[in-house]
Amino acid sequence: MLVKIVKNIKKTKKKQEKNKIKELEKIQKKQEKNKIKEDKPSNCSICNCVLKGRGKTNMCNKCLQSSKSKCPTLEELKDDIRIIKTKVCIGKKYGVSDNAVKNG
Ligand SMILES: [Zn+2]
Repeated sequence: MLVKIVKNIKKTKKKQEKNKIKELEKIQKKQEKNKIKEDKPSNCSICNCVLKGRGKTNMCNKCLQSSKSKCPTLEELKDDIRIIKTKVCIGKKYGVSDNAVKNG
């Protein structure tokens, strides 16, 4: 009886090991596929659309422009700060809150 049990344990262990190896092989194959995908230059990293050429940014023109518009340049920021500061000054001058000036 005991021998049988031991044999069974050995069998199940072997099965488990085989399954592990199979899983590892699956993961490796997936990784290889992903590598091949990475080598291909052709998908936008944001909207995943197909790119015509290999861009430096990995983004399509649309996403590139929208990302640019989200990040203003230093000059634009300086302008914004100047405008906001003057608005605050105007608000103080006329005794209204700067929010009122910003909204109107
Ligand atoms: Zn895109």
